[in-house]
Amino acid sequence: MEDARQIVLISPTGYAHHPGCHHISPEYLEHPAWAKIALPGIPFPTVDEQRPVTVTIGGRTWTATRRCPDC
Ligand SMILES: [Zn+2]
Repeated sequence: MEDARQIVLISPTGYAHHPGCHHISPEYLEHPAWAKIALPGIPFPTVDEQRPVTVTIGGRTWTATRRCPDC
């Protein structure tokens, strides 16, 4: 089992979420419009306009500039 606290999901609209958030449907974990990144041993990072989280997977780039306020 993966530790859910170490996984960050980035939505197509630029929000960073944890898996298990009520905004996240299980199918989003494999949905191509969502990025799933693993941050082993790192707490959920601060995410804002000054500290965006960017990930590139398969030539596509996601940038989260907001953290979900609910998870
Ligand atoms: Zn959320």
